Amino acid sequence: MRTVYVNGSYLPETEAHVSIFDRGFLFADGVYEVTLVLGGKLVDFAAHLHRLHRSLNELRIAPPVSDDDLLDIHRALIRQNQIDEGLIYLQVTRGAADRDFLFPDAATPRTLVLFTQKKAILNNPVAERGQRVITIEDLRWRRCDIKTVQLLYPSLAKMEAKSRGADDAWLVRDGFVTEGTSNNAYIVTRNGTIVTRDLSTDILHGVTRHSVLQCAHDLQLKVEERPFAVGEIGEAAEAFTTSSSGLVNPVVEIDGATIGDGNPGPIAKRLRHIYIQRSRDTAI
Ligand code: PLP
Repeated sequence: MRTVYVNGSYLPETEAHVSIFDRGFLFADGVYEVTLVLGGKLVDFAAHLHRLHRSLNELRIAPPVSDDDLLDIHRALIRQNQIDEGLIYLQVTRGAADRDFLFPDAATPRTLVLFTQKKAILNNPVAERGQRVITIEDLRWRRCDIKTVQLLYPSLAKMEAKSRGADDAWLVRDGFVTEGTSNNAYIVTRNGTIVTRDLSTDILHGVTRHSVLQCAHDLQLKVEERPFAVGEIGEAAEAFTTSSSGLVNPVVEIDGATIGDGNPGPIAKRLRHIYIQRSRDTAI
Protein backbone atom coordinates (compact mmCIF):
# COMPACT_ATOMS: atom_id res chain seq x y z
CA MET A 1 0.00 0.00 0.00
CA ARG A 2 1.23 3.51 -0.80
CA THR A 3 2.36 5.94 1.83
CA VAL A 4 0.96 9.40 1.16
CA TYR A 5 1.53 12.79 2.79
CA VAL A 6 -1.33 14.82 4.25
CA ASN A 7 -0.91 17.99 6.32
CA GLY A 8 2.30 17.03 8.08
CA SER A 9 1.76 13.25 8.35
CA TYR A 10 2.97 10.28 6.33
CA LEU A 11 0.14 7.72 6.33
CA PRO A 12 -1.04 4.59 4.51
CA GLU A 13 -3.32 5.86 1.71
CA THR A 14 -6.44 4.32 3.30
CA GLU A 15 -5.89 6.29 6.51
CA ALA A 16 -5.34 9.71 4.91
CA HIS A 17 -8.34 12.07 4.99
CA VAL A 18 -9.32 15.67 4.25
CA SER A 19 -12.40 17.53 5.48
CA ILE A 20 -15.75 17.46 3.64
CA PHE A 21 -15.52 21.28 3.94
CA ASP A 22 -12.23 21.43 2.08
CA ARG A 23 -12.48 24.20 -0.51
CA GLY A 24 -10.75 21.96 -3.02
CA PHE A 25 -13.82 19.71 -2.82
CA LEU A 26 -16.45 22.48 -2.60
CA PHE A 27 -14.99 25.10 -4.99
CA ALA A 28 -12.04 23.50 -6.85
CA ASP A 29 -10.16 26.14 -4.87
CA GLY A 30 -6.70 24.68 -5.16
CA VAL A 31 -3.71 24.08 -7.38
CA TYR A 32 -1.46 21.14 -8.13
CA GLU A 33 1.83 20.07 -9.63
CA VAL A 34 3.00 16.79 -11.12
CA THR A 35 6.71 16.03 -11.11
CA LEU A 36 8.35 13.28 -13.13
CA VAL A 37 10.59 10.82 -11.26
CA LEU A 38 13.35 9.09 -13.26
CA GLY A 39 15.95 6.87 -11.60
CA GLY A 40 14.44 7.82 -8.23
CA LYS A 41 15.16 11.52 -8.86
CA LEU A 42 13.01 14.59 -9.50
CA VAL A 43 13.03 16.08 -13.01
CA ASP A 44 12.85 19.88 -13.42
CA PHE A 45 11.88 20.27 -9.75
CA ALA A 46 12.89 23.95 -9.50
CA ALA A 47 10.62 24.78 -12.45
CA HIS A 48 7.68 22.95 -10.83
CA LEU A 49 8.21 24.89 -7.60
CA HIS A 50 8.40 28.13 -9.56
CA ARG A 51 5.08 27.39 -11.30
CA LEU A 52 3.49 26.28 -8.02
CA HIS A 53 4.34 29.65 -6.50
CA ARG A 54 2.97 31.43 -9.54
CA SER A 55 -0.32 29.48 -9.37
CA LEU A 56 -0.65 30.07 -5.61
CA ASN A 57 0.11 33.75 -6.00
CA GLU A 58 -2.50 34.21 -8.75
CA LEU A 59 -5.13 32.70 -6.41
CA ARG A 60 -3.83 34.49 -3.30
CA ILE A 61 -3.17 31.23 -1.45
CA ALA A 62 -0.16 31.43 0.89
CA PRO A 63 2.37 28.58 0.47
CA PRO A 64 1.62 25.96 3.15
CA VAL A 65 5.26 24.99 3.83
CA SER A 66 8.72 26.11 2.68
CA ASP A 67 10.34 24.98 -0.58
CA ASP A 68 12.95 23.03 1.39
CA ASP A 69 10.17 21.17 3.16
CA LEU A 70 8.47 20.42 -0.17
CA LEU A 71 11.69 18.94 -1.52
CA ASP A 72 12.10 16.84 1.65
CA ILE A 73 8.50 15.55 1.38
CA HIS A 74 8.97 14.62 -2.29
CA ARG A 75 12.17 12.76 -1.48
CA ALA A 76 10.64 11.00 1.54
CA LEU A 77 7.74 9.72 -0.59
CA ILE A 78 10.11 8.52 -3.33
CA ARG A 79 12.07 6.63 -0.69
CA GLN A 80 9.14 5.21 1.25
CA ASN A 81 7.31 4.08 -1.89
CA GLN A 82 10.47 2.95 -3.71
CA ILE A 83 9.69 4.97 -6.80
CA ASP A 84 12.28 4.47 -9.50
CA GLU A 85 10.07 5.73 -12.36
CA GLY A 86 6.75 7.50 -12.03
CA LEU A 87 5.05 10.69 -10.92
CA ILE A 88 4.52 12.68 -7.73
CA TYR A 89 1.34 14.72 -7.38
CA LEU A 90 1.24 17.72 -5.04
CA GLN A 91 -2.15 19.28 -4.24
CA VAL A 92 -2.63 22.50 -2.26
CA THR A 93 -6.06 23.91 -1.44
CA ARG A 94 -7.17 27.00 0.46
CA GLY A 95 -8.15 24.62 3.28
CA ALA A 96 -11.38 23.77 5.09
CA ALA A 97 -13.91 26.42 6.11
CA ASP A 98 -17.69 26.68 6.38
CA ARG A 99 -19.10 26.98 2.87
CA ASP A 100 -18.95 30.54 1.60
CA PHE A 101 -17.88 32.02 -1.73
CA LEU A 102 -15.74 34.53 0.14
CA PHE A 103 -12.28 33.28 1.08
CA PRO A 104 -11.83 32.25 4.72
CA ASP A 105 -9.38 34.09 6.95
CA ALA A 106 -5.85 33.89 5.49
CA ALA A 107 -4.72 32.12 8.67
CA THR A 108 -6.90 29.10 7.75
CA PRO A 109 -4.47 26.19 7.35
CA ARG A 110 -4.08 25.22 3.73
CA THR A 111 -4.51 21.56 2.82
CA LEU A 112 -1.35 19.94 1.47
CA VAL A 113 -1.46 16.44 0.00
CA LEU A 114 1.20 14.56 -1.93
CA PHE A 115 1.02 11.08 -3.41
CA THR A 116 3.10 8.98 -5.79
CA GLN A 117 2.28 6.89 -8.85
CA LYS A 118 4.66 4.15 -9.89
CA LYS A 119 4.43 4.15 -13.68
CA ALA A 120 6.38 3.12 -16.78
CA ILE A 121 7.06 6.52 -18.33
CA LEU A 122 9.92 5.73 -20.72
CA ASN A 123 8.43 2.55 -22.25
CA ASN A 124 5.17 3.94 -23.50
CA PRO A 125 3.44 1.92 -26.28
CA VAL A 126 1.37 4.94 -27.36
CA ALA A 127 4.55 6.99 -27.86
CA GLU A 128 5.93 4.10 -29.97
CA ARG A 129 2.99 4.02 -32.36
CA GLY A 130 2.00 7.71 -32.08
CA GLN A 131 -1.15 9.26 -30.58
CA ARG A 132 -4.48 9.53 -32.36
CA VAL A 133 -6.00 12.87 -31.45
CA ILE A 134 -9.35 14.56 -32.03
CA THR A 135 -10.05 18.29 -31.91
CA ILE A 136 -12.72 19.65 -29.58
CA GLU A 137 -13.82 23.16 -28.63
CA ASP A 138 -11.86 24.64 -25.71
CA LEU A 139 -14.60 25.43 -23.18
CA ARG A 140 -12.30 25.88 -20.17
CA TRP A 141 -12.18 29.07 -18.12
CA ARG A 142 -9.88 31.84 -19.33
CA ARG A 143 -7.04 31.37 -16.85
CA CYS A 144 -5.56 28.15 -18.15
CA ASP A 145 -2.11 29.42 -17.10
CA ILE A 146 -3.02 28.61 -13.48
CA LYS A 147 -2.65 24.91 -12.70
CA THR A 148 -5.92 24.55 -10.77
CA VAL A 149 -7.49 21.26 -9.70
CA GLN A 150 -10.50 22.15 -11.86
CA LEU A 151 -9.99 19.36 -14.43
CA LEU A 152 -13.54 18.45 -15.36
CA TYR A 153 -13.49 19.77 -18.93
CA PRO A 154 -10.19 18.08 -19.83
CA SER A 155 -11.61 14.91 -18.30
CA LEU A 156 -14.78 15.18 -20.45
CA ALA A 157 -12.64 15.89 -23.53
CA LYS A 158 -10.49 12.83 -22.88
CA MET A 159 -13.62 10.66 -22.47
CA GLU A 160 -14.93 12.02 -25.79
CA ALA A 161 -11.61 11.15 -27.44
CA LYS A 162 -11.76 7.64 -26.00
CA SER A 163 -15.35 7.14 -27.14
CA ARG A 164 -14.25 8.05 -30.67
CA GLY A 165 -11.37 5.56 -30.61
CA ALA A 166 -8.67 8.23 -30.11
CA ASP A 167 -6.04 8.69 -27.41
CA ASP A 168 -6.52 12.36 -26.56
CA ALA A 169 -8.06 15.67 -27.61
CA TRP A 170 -6.53 18.95 -28.73
CA LEU A 171 -8.54 21.95 -27.58
CA VAL A 172 -9.47 24.64 -30.09
CA ARG A 173 -10.42 28.27 -29.52
CA ASP A 174 -11.47 30.47 -32.48
CA GLY A 175 -10.07 27.95 -34.95
CA PHE A 176 -6.63 27.78 -33.29
CA VAL A 177 -5.26 24.99 -31.10
CA THR A 178 -4.60 26.05 -27.51
CA GLU A 179 -3.14 22.81 -26.08
CA GLY A 180 -3.95 19.18 -25.33
CA THR A 181 -6.15 18.08 -22.43
CA SER A 182 -3.06 17.56 -20.26
CA ASN A 183 -0.14 18.54 -22.48
CA ASN A 184 1.18 21.27 -24.75
CA ALA A 185 0.64 20.83 -28.51
CA TYR A 186 3.09 21.21 -31.41
CA ILE A 187 3.24 20.77 -35.16
CA VAL A 188 6.34 20.59 -37.34
CA THR A 189 5.86 22.28 -40.70
CA ARG A 190 7.10 20.75 -43.96
CA ASN A 191 10.11 23.09 -43.83
CA GLY A 192 11.03 21.73 -40.39
CA THR A 193 9.81 24.59 -38.18
CA ILE A 194 8.40 23.59 -34.79
CA VAL A 195 5.24 25.60 -34.05
CA THR A 196 3.61 25.81 -30.63
CA ARG A 197 1.26 28.36 -29.12
CA ASP A 198 2.95 31.30 -27.40
CA LEU A 199 2.63 31.66 -23.61
CA SER A 200 -0.47 33.51 -22.44
CA THR A 201 -3.44 32.93 -20.14
CA ASP A 202 -4.79 30.52 -22.83
CA ILE A 203 -2.41 27.66 -21.96
CA LEU A 204 -0.53 26.08 -19.11
CA HIS A 205 3.12 27.14 -19.15
CA GLY A 206 4.43 23.60 -19.38
CA VAL A 207 7.64 22.76 -17.57
CA THR A 208 8.36 20.15 -20.26
CA ARG A 209 7.54 22.73 -22.96
CA HIS A 210 10.23 25.02 -21.57
CA SER A 211 12.87 22.26 -21.41
CA VAL A 212 12.01 20.79 -24.81
CA LEU A 213 12.17 24.23 -26.50
CA GLN A 214 15.58 24.62 -24.88
CA CYS A 215 16.62 21.25 -26.40
CA ALA A 216 15.26 22.40 -29.79
CA HIS A 217 17.27 25.60 -29.48
CA ASP A 218 20.44 23.64 -28.62
CA LEU A 219 19.86 21.48 -31.72
CA GLN A 220 19.46 24.70 -33.76
CA LEU A 221 15.96 23.70 -34.83
CA LYS A 222 13.63 26.49 -35.94
CA VAL A 223 10.85 27.31 -33.45
CA GLU A 224 7.87 29.62 -33.87
CA GLU A 225 5.81 30.38 -30.78
CA ARG A 226 2.42 31.35 -32.23
CA PRO A 227 -1.10 29.95 -32.42
CA PHE A 228 -1.57 27.42 -35.24
CA ALA A 229 -4.89 26.78 -36.99
CA VAL A 230 -6.61 23.39 -37.10
CA GLY A 231 -6.18 23.52 -40.89
CA GLU A 232 -2.39 23.64 -40.50
CA ILE A 233 -2.27 20.27 -38.70
CA GLY A 234 -3.22 18.23 -41.77
CA GLU A 235 -0.52 20.04 -43.76
CA ALA A 236 2.15 19.39 -41.12
CA ALA A 237 5.06 16.95 -41.52
CA GLU A 238 4.63 15.79 -37.91
CA ALA A 239 3.04 16.68 -34.60
CA PHE A 240 3.65 15.94 -30.94
CA THR A 241 2.77 16.85 -27.37
CA THR A 242 4.86 17.51 -24.28
CA SER A 243 4.10 16.88 -20.60
CA SER A 244 5.78 15.55 -17.48
CA SER A 245 3.94 12.23 -17.77
CA GLY A 246 4.12 11.85 -21.58
CA LEU A 247 7.56 13.46 -22.18
CA VAL A 248 7.71 14.20 -25.93
CA ASN A 249 4.86 12.15 -27.36
CA PRO A 250 4.35 11.93 -31.15
CA VAL A 251 0.90 12.51 -32.74
CA VAL A 252 0.18 10.65 -35.98
CA GLU A 253 -3.52 11.24 -36.61
CA ILE A 254 -5.86 14.21 -36.20
CA ASP A 255 -9.64 13.79 -36.51
CA GLY A 256 -9.08 10.53 -38.45
CA ALA A 257 -6.62 12.07 -40.96
CA THR A 258 -3.01 10.87 -41.08
CA ILE A 259 -0.24 13.34 -40.26
CA GLY A 260 2.92 12.95 -42.38
CA ASP A 261 3.44 9.27 -43.21
CA GLY A 262 1.40 8.14 -40.19
CA ASN A 263 4.45 7.24 -38.09
CA PRO A 264 6.13 9.16 -35.26
CA GLY A 265 8.21 11.86 -36.95
CA PRO A 266 12.02 12.22 -36.79
CA ILE A 267 12.00 15.55 -34.95
CA ALA A 268 9.61 14.31 -32.26
CA LYS A 269 11.66 11.12 -31.83
CA ARG A 270 14.92 13.07 -31.61
CA LEU A 271 13.50 15.55 -29.10
CA ARG A 272 12.09 12.71 -27.00
CA HIS A 273 15.50 11.04 -26.90
CA ILE A 274 17.41 14.25 -26.06
CA TYR A 275 14.84 15.36 -23.49
CA ILE A 276 15.10 12.01 -21.67
CA GLN A 277 18.88 12.27 -21.65
CA ARG A 278 18.76 15.85 -20.37
CA SER A 279 16.23 14.90 -17.69
CA ARG A 280 18.41 12.07 -16.42
CA ASP A 281 21.43 14.35 -16.34
CA THR A 282 19.75 17.19 -14.45
CA ALA A 283 17.33 15.33 -12.09
CA ILE A 284 17.93 15.92 -8.37
N1 PLP B 1 -1.16 21.71 -20.47
C1 PLP B 1 -2.04 21.21 -19.60
C2 PLP B 1 -3.47 21.63 -19.71
C3 PLP B 1 -1.64 20.29 -18.61
O1 PLP B 1 -2.54 19.79 -17.74
C4 PLP B 1 -0.27 19.89 -18.56
C5 PLP B 1 0.21 18.94 -17.55
O2 PLP B 1 -0.51 18.48 -16.68
C6 PLP B 1 0.61 20.43 -19.50
C7 PLP B 1 0.14 21.34 -20.43
C8 PLP B 1 2.07 20.03 -19.50
O3 PLP B 1 2.74 20.62 -18.42
P1 PLP B 1 4.08 20.00 -17.85
O4 PLP B 1 5.02 19.91 -19.01
O5 PLP B 1 4.52 21.01 -16.85
O6 PLP B 1 3.75 18.67 -17.27
